[in-house]
Amino acid sequence: PPDVEALGRSTWTLLHSMAATYPEKADSAQQRDMRGFLTLFSRLYPCWVCADDFQAWMAHPSGRNQPRLGSRAEFGWWMCEAHNEVNRKLGKKEFDCRFWEERWRTGWKD
Ligand code: FAD
Repeated sequence: PPDVEALGRSTWTLLHSMAATYPEKADSAQQRDMRGFLTLFSRLYPCWVCADDFQAWMAHPSGRNQPRLGSRAEFGWWMCEAHNEVNRKLGKKEFDCRFWEERWRTGWKD
């Protein structure tokens, strides 16, 4: 079975990097592609308990966790919230989503 921790770290790098390179304003084809990716990702991610929980989180009946794909800013924030949901579940510290872009796109200024 895959190493769930190493797989998780590399996957978050991929997912946040996809948000960081997402168009500043996404047209409908770009939104459709990303929605399709996320749907398949949430079914195929090779940690199956992780995938089940992630799918259930995205499909919350209120609709509040549906991917927000109109722009890079929205999508990056949404991905940060998705990651924080997993952080909470695992008892890890939450990340302050105001800093997602510094962490994953522009780099820390220090
Ligand atoms: P990670 O959580 O992997 O984070 C990597 C880096 O991302 C951090 O060092 C930090 O710089 C940055 N970061 C942290 N939080 C955020 C955020 N909210 N937004 C932006 N950047 C952030 N593991 C399980 O044991 N059970 C599960 O059910 C589970 N579900 C998962 C579901 C998904 C979709 C994914 C991708 C991973 C899942 N994992 C799960 C793995 C888990 O999330 C971690 O990747 C793993 O525990 C390693 O944690 P880490 O402390 O090294 O940092």
